[in-house]
Amino acid sequence: MSQEIIKIFDTTLRDGEQSPGASMNTEEKIQIAVQLERLGVDIIEAGFAAASPGDFDAISKIAQRVSNSTVCSLARAIDSDVKAAGEAIEQAKMKRIHTFIATSSIHMEHKLKMTPDEVIRRAVRAVEYARTFVEDVEFSCEDAGRSDMVFLKEITDAVIEAGAGTINLPDTVGFRLPQEIGAMVKEMSDYTKGRAIISVHNHNDLGLAVANSLESISSGARQVECTINGLGERAGNAALEEIVMALKVRSDVFGGFETNINTKEIYPSSRLIANITGIEPQPNKAIVGKNAFAHESGIHQDGVLKNKTTYEIIRPEDIGLDMEDTLVLGKHSGRAAFKDKLSKLGFTLEEVELNNAFDRFKELADKKKEIYDDDIRALVTSQMANVPKAYELVSLQLMDCSNGVPSAAVTIRHKSEEFTDAGIGDGTIDAVFKTIDRISGYQGTLMEYKVKSVSKGKDALANVTVKVNFNDDEPAIIGHGLSLDTMLASARAYIGALNSYLSMEGMLKIRDVDSSDTI
Ligand SMILES: [Zn+2]
Repeated sequence: MSQEIIKIFDTTLRDGEQSPGASMNTEEKIQIAVQLERLGVDIIEAGFAAASPGDFDAISKIAQRVSNSTVCSLARAIDSDVKAAGEAIEQAKMKRIHTFIATSSIHMEHKLKMTPDEVIRRAVRAVEYARTFVEDVEFSCEDAGRSDMVFLKEITDAVIEAGAGTINLPDTVGFRLPQEIGAMVKEMSDYTKGRAIISVHNHNDLGLAVANSLESISSGARQVECTINGLGERAGNAALEEIVMALKVRSDVFGGFETNINTKEIYPSSRLIANITGIEPQPNKAIVGKNAFAHESGIHQDGVLKNKTTYEIIRPEDIGLDMEDTLVLGKHSGRAAFKDKLSKLGFTLEEVELNNAFDRFKELADKKKEIYDDDIRALVTSQMANVPKAYELVSLQLMDCSNGVPSAAVTIRHKSEEFTDAGIGDGTIDAVFKTIDRISGYQGTLMEYKVKSVSKGKDALANVTVKVNFNDDEPAIIGHGLSLDTMLASARAYIGALNSYLSMEGMLKIRDVDSSDTI
């Protein structure tokens, strides 16, 4: 039987990046893109080039780095956006411009303040202009889920004529039920048969994003847009891992379809993204949650021990979980073993970064008996966030806070000079962060603070993720800090955020785009 390929369009770096409420730095985005390529996604939506110079820079670096996946940038249906997208992806081996405009009457009337005819003209212009940069153009009818079917067909005819090869029908507000999406997709895919690929982009506001995506595939969609761990605006997007595994596990139903995804890279991808964004999937999250393969009940355990297929519909090894959580490396592991481990975990580091990571690994191995995969992931991701190091923590001293005023003395290296200051705060962390601000001269506002124990045991590493805003007009910045000591990890995370901010200073400014300007 001939298999039809369902294209996986990953938007973790675009729609997903809108969910952490903070920016990743360029190096982090590149690492994610490289992992997505290894996972086998067909299209990587690397960002929204016109949104900020930082986005543009990250997309163009990803375009140079990735060769087995198509690299795509989002663009509103205006010339300057399309031009930015075209220029950002210029060096990609395979490239796509994804342009969009709202097509529901509620959006056309109240948001765009345009007549349907004007909307069609704008869409056609954007697609024609995009085709001057690339062959591969996708057009999205924003809020398709609430658009009039007659108008959808009219605008679709016009943009296909103008050169769009993929028509995306986003349920931007996550309002539709599977049977409704299915009916729309069926009608549109029959209507465009042989002329364009129908794609879907479902939001999870009613918890139906994956169900809607699967129903769309059964109804004729040949591309699904999705994100790792279901990241995305508000309640998120459709989870890539759930769609892909549903197609695989239920091949009895979806037998005619397959994806190019290497499912063994699902778990490493999920971990990398959780580590970088600081957003852990809920423990009971399907496929990648901490408990997804834990069989707690005695009856289940007995069944699983007798024959795994009794209760396990997915084998852990299918998603790359088989080698996890076993003791991986220790004090005596060599550089080659370490490098091999990194590559298995999906990291591709330059020589300098590799040496740096190995030094840190050795340092850790001296203090911590057993080192697990998650320790290594945290070690590498926390290091990426700290490059380049404009400021470096030299030492941290804390005063007893049980009775009295919490205070901290901090020494920081900046341009090979050391600066020491001491300060007080409402709590110890507050004192540390305020003192760092005084030394650097940058005033940060702490938006979020999270501490996580990386692996098991009392000697587990503390992985601190902070989101800090250094400028009200710009998005907050993510920082990571790793240490066996939580306070030290916190100080490192805060300085990491500052270093990331400085590496992107002036590039984060959002030009004139807000979140209602996306799909
Ligand atoms: Zn979206």
